[in-house]
Amino acid sequence: MTDVRTGEQRQGQGQRKRVFIRTYGCQMNVYDSDRMADVLRPLGYALADAPEQADLVVLNTCHIRERASEKVYSELGRLRDTKFERRAQGRDLTIAVAGCVAQAEGQEIVRRQPAVDIVVGPQAYHRLPELLAEAERKSAFRRAGKRLPGAGVLDTDFPAESKFDHLPAPAGVHAGQAFLSIQEGCDKFCTFCVVPYTRGAEYSRPVAAVLAEARHLAAAGAIEITLLGQNVNAYHGEAADGSTWSLARLIRALAEIEGVARLRYTTSHPRDMDDALIAVHGEVPQLMPYLHLPVQSGSDRILEAMNRRHGRDLFLRLVDRLRAVRPDLALSSDFIVGFPGESDADFDDTMRLIDEVGFASAFSFKYSRRPGTPGWAMPDQVPESVEAARLAALQALLGRQARDFNASKVGATVPVLFAETGRKPGQIIGKTPWLQSVHAEGNARLIGSIAAVRLTAGHANSLAGEIVVRPWEAAA
Ligand code: SAM
Ligand code: SF4
Repeated sequence: MTDVRTGEQRQGQGQRKRVFIRTYGCQMNVYDSDRMADVLRPLGYALADAPEQADLVVLNTCHIRERASEKVYSELGRLRDTKFERRAQGRDLTIAVAGCVAQAEGQEIVRRQPAVDIVVGPQAYHRLPELLAEAERKSAFRRAGKRLPGAGVLDTDFPAESKFDHLPAPAGVHAGQAFLSIQEGCDKFCTFCVVPYTRGAEYSRPVAAVLAEARHLAAAGAIEITLLGQNVNAYHGEAADGSTWSLARLIRALAEIEGVARLRYTTSHPRDMDDALIAVHGEVPQLMPYLHLPVQSGSDRILEAMNRRHGRDLFLRLVDRLRAVRPDLALSSDFIVGFPGESDADFDDTMRLIDEVGFASAFSFKYSRRPGTPGWAMPDQVPESVEAARLAALQALLGRQARDFNASKVGATVPVLFAETGRKPGQIIGKTPWLQSVHAEGNARLIGSIAAVRLTAGHANSLAGEIVVRPWEAAA
């Protein structure tokens, strides 16, 4: 007979259940996956390294582009096979779909793949314990041969209470680095984007909750904290005295926390880069000289059709002002090619903008037509072959700029926060203040700490360097 005891009961008897969480998409999903692990830990779930070792598999999904959501269904097909093999052996595998595909498709997921037990949206995963208990109850009934209306347990509400008030303290510090979600959702409704529909309305966490979580992370060893939000610079959190804090004010307060040597934030919207935030880039040394500021297109016509509510000039002016306060700022961006109606001239405008700015890194995508967004119904969808050619040209230019940026740092000695071991024996990998990856020979003991590194070679996606050993360290 299959064991249907809950994780808590098993834990009480010294048995551990295992959960495997696969994360698709953005850093917000990485953060959410960590928080789901935090929610499941008190139920006795330890993390598994592969689905084969797990009692519960959670796919934390991304709906931003069609390819991202289709990948989920192929993974679900594989998990269904594993579930059936397990059942034949008298064991079970619980399958949960979380994240933005869960939110957008809800019951449709269970219709397409009936092996799915739980569908949970990004605002409801603090309720995972109840959903698991309900799924286990349903599966016990089914094994007893009882018929049940509807398969799967679904929670895609945008609850009135914030999930953050119901989550346990985070355990997610990895090699001195941690993510901290401060803002969620979006009210901007760019015509290509599903986020306002999957993540809901813009919401900023209260200042006290953010500061408490940051102090907790610092005490747990976080040297670098990356503040997250779909529109992180739209942050407007309520403080205890009733006032509203902007991101600029929050960064100044976070920089005061002992042990926090590095702060970053992502993802920003150009319209929300206010004067105070620009000033912070020049005045707070803990704020790293790196900014991801998506522009999407360099054509005013396309920016308007995308409902970005700014033109190319505003973006270029922002870049000038940011560089005036922080001359070594590394700029990164997102670009979409082939938005409906994009002509060769519009695309040339994007290439000229890239030339003018000079990016240290960037993400670029072919436009993906998303159901439910205004872009779906727009005329003049751009043929795939044209999108592919434009993307190749754009990526070649951005690739050259990234290589030039990396090469410009060769010869400098910079602080690197080491995060992991490399593929070669004795190699460790870390990040510069400008978020470039650096490979160096070094002791794995350095992982989770900052060391001085002399940069010796610049490549397309990374740098090589030598850890600078000071004379007194060599003698030790
Ligand atoms: N809030 C950020 C902003 O305003 O730019 C972006 C967040 S979005 C989750 C991340 C990136 O995905 C976007 O900047 C955009 O480049 C890309 N993206 C979103 N929808 C897309 C679509 N339908 N097709 C292609 N890329 C898309
Ligand atoms: Fe999507 Fe960003 Fe536009 Fe919001 S501002 S709709 S998250 S691209």
